[in-house]
Amino acid sequence: MNFNLAVILRETALDSPGRPAILYPGGSLTYAELDGLSDLVAASLQASGIRPGDAVALQLPNIPEFVVAYFGILKAGGAAVPVNIMLKAPEVAFILGDSAAKILITWGGALDHALTGAASAGVSEIYAVGGSDDERAISFSRLLAVATASGRLAERKPDDTAVIMYTSGTTGQPKGAELTHLQLYMNADVPGRLFDVQPADVVITVLPLFHVFGLSSILNVCVRFGCTMSLIPRFDPAVVLEAIQRDRATIFEGVPAMFISLLSYPDLDSHDVSSLRVAISGGASIPADVLDAFEKRFGIPVLEGYGLTETASTVTFNKNASDRRIYSVGKPIWGTETEIWSEDGKALPPGKDNIGEVVTRGLHVMKGYLNQAEATARAFAGGWFHTGDLGYFDEDGFLFIVGRAKELIIRGGYNVYPLEIENVLRAHPAVVEAAVIGMPHERMGEEIMAVVVPRPGTQVTAPELTAFCKERLAAYKYPRVIEFRAEMPKNTLGKVLKDELLPAAVRSAGPR
Ligand code: AMP
Repeated sequence: MNFNLAVILRETALDSPGRPAILYPGGSLTYAELDGLSDLVAASLQASGIRPGDAVALQLPNIPEFVVAYFGILKAGGAAVPVNIMLKAPEVAFILGDSAAKILITWGGALDHALTGAASAGVSEIYAVGGSDDERAISFSRLLAVATASGRLAERKPDDTAVIMYTSGTTGQPKGAELTHLQLYMNADVPGRLFDVQPADVVITVLPLFHVFGLSSILNVCVRFGCTMSLIPRFDPAVVLEAIQRDRATIFEGVPAMFISLLSYPDLDSHDVSSLRVAISGGASIPADVLDAFEKRFGIPVLEGYGLTETASTVTFNKNASDRRIYSVGKPIWGTETEIWSEDGKALPPGKDNIGEVVTRGLHVMKGYLNQAEATARAFAGGWFHTGDLGYFDEDGFLFIVGRAKELIIRGGYNVYPLEIENVLRAHPAVVEAAVIGMPHERMGEEIMAVVVPRPGTQVTAPELTAFCKERLAAYKYPRVIEFRAEMPKNTLGKVLKDELLPAAVRSAGPR
């Protein structure tokens, strides 16, 4: 039996050839067209010498060519290596070299860094969307220029690598998580059933497809269940609201920063968002006030899920509005097990006081990190994948994430979870965003520092916020240093880059 993941496209195209797979500004592609175009890419890649198992890097924003090329690579039997479009030349070079990519497919907007990176990694076959043939890159249209394609899917086994996804890595050197055909299939099929995705659904696809959340939880889910993606290349609240209205979108999936931005968009009321039936949040903890306000304003449930690159995205999910625990990240999905472990590797019972590391195993977990046997062995210590996140289960089996283990602040021997303090700060009317970090401190070991983005047009001082926190938090938890910033440094997915928040003097002193 052939386990090639691209079967999800072939089957949907055979069942519903005329159904729109992709809507984008100025056009659309049906499932039959998507299937046919990706056959052409597969044939071209094979003609270029791509053999099963070869890596092909894909550095595109959310445009139709991403989807066409992704399935073309899979059909040819290759491993797709999604690359963030914001990366600079040395970062591109690292990924191309580490994955041993044979070909790079990129676009005009990233061309300079992509070409420099490719040159230093020794990759010479480069295709670019939006570029004309020149000595630097071949036009993407050449990949579609073959006369006919057989439509055959290269033979793949369940455990063969389909995607090498470099972790978004808010810190450190990226590692390539090897995601298999079976793992990705399972992570399209199971979450899709939990979201109750229907062929008539239109999903706002603004989460980058080069990140696991967009790739697995939108692209693969939509293609598996035959619904329609409304592609948006870059997050902008106005563009998202227009797309919801124009395409009668039914599902919005995003990270908390997107929910915050949509809610505070001044012209929100002039858009018709009544077609939406559900929103899905993941990637970071969604603040309770944002979830509540979004549900009220949009009149739809916001279901939170939790996942990682290494788990091809979903670990836990809140199934639907009638079977969820608000503010939790839900229950482990089918085919997986998740536990909370103490530092000495013992499974902890449920309960708010039993916080430990979230570990998980099952069909959703990656094969390992490419070329990193040691890091892989560490991540799978004791036979379970260690997420690096801290959390607890309640008595009914719902998981609560309290933060990342490495962000845990230990102040004078007390454990302080930044998320708890961030939630208190965010509850202040003059605060839009807050991030809490630990600063090295001679006497306390670490001291608590908060970086706050004030709401435009409001006046608030550090002593006022300190007093606000002191009223709501134990004395060892309130922030001792508060810094105001106009905006928070974030990665492309909208996650706060906490390492960049440390004062420059501390940062230059090296890693803690
Ligand atoms: P990435 O590999 O870039 O997808 O990042 C995975 C990390 O995002 C996890 O280890 C968590 O720290 C964080 N994360 C994802 N979803 C959630 C959530 N719903 N709540 C809190 N943290 C989350």
